[in-house]
Amino acid sequence: MIQVKHIHKFYGKHHVLKDVSLQVSKGEVVVIIGPSGSGKSTLLRCMNYLEQIQDGAIEIEGKPIGLIERNGEKVEMPQKQLDQIRSEVGMVFQNFNLFPHLSVLDNILMAPMTVKRTKRSDVEPLAKELLVKVGLAEKAHMYPDHLSGGQKQRVAIARALAMQPKVMLFDEPTSALDPELVGEVLAVMKQLAAEGMTMVVVTHEMGFAKEVADRVVVMDAGSLIEEGAPAKIFTAPEQQRTQAFLSKVL
Ligand code: ATP
Ligand code: MG
Repeated sequence: MIQVKHIHKFYGKHHVLKDVSLQVSKGEVVVIIGPSGSGKSTLLRCMNYLEQIQDGAIEIEGKPIGLIERNGEKVEMPQKQLDQIRSEVGMVFQNFNLFPHLSVLDNILMAPMTVKRTKRSDVEPLAKELLVKVGLAEKAHMYPDHLSGGQKQRVAIARALAMQPKVMLFDEPTSALDPELVGEVLAVMKQLAAEGMTMVVVTHEMGFAKEVADRVVVMDAGSLIEEGAPAKIFTAPEQQRTQAFLSKVL
């Protein structure tokens, strides 16, 4: 489903992703953990090419995204092609990023109507279904400012799902929430996982990782240092740097 092959990412001279490779299969839930600054967000943003890479390749369902080979040279793909592939990858951020001037329903309708040019009346049933799914059916006509953080994040998830993506990427979706609101967002994510959605999740919620992840990937200093089933990573990590990280967060 997603193939990250030997990618390198620099910010100026700062080498933030160093030969990172990662395969995510259809229906798999992969959780990425690691210290602050290790490159987790950068890796996630590279997966839908919100960040350019300088070397390596990324494929979504066998189709390259971003950098493509042309006449033996690596070049950026045309924007239209990029938008097409990107529409198959949903992303949820730490800070919701909802449009404040749009109602909950319009937030959800926005991308299908503008990117996919679907008629409002054709997406509305799906949007309403998604609101039911995230438990916010009665909030359709409210504005984001009137919602709690947990509700905003559930709208953000519904909004991403409205594009009917093949993969969902989550970057610390609960980190900005008050502790009592974390559970309702994790519950929606758990349900998505149970329905077979392919997911890549950066999180500090180790309970979620243990319960929901098929595989846990550990990053440190721009490299992927260890990966495995949660039971193994949390009880018998092989790398000393994984042990050191886990001893701080568990
Ligand atoms: P956190 O857990 O704090 O979110 P992270 O693992 O997500 O950390 P990244 O945000 O991917 O880490 O950052 C990796 C490295 O890249 C860090 O050293 C960071 O300072 C640097 N970095 C991230 N974004 C930029 C940017 N836009 N310009 C320059 N450097 C950046
Ligand atoms: Mg981050």
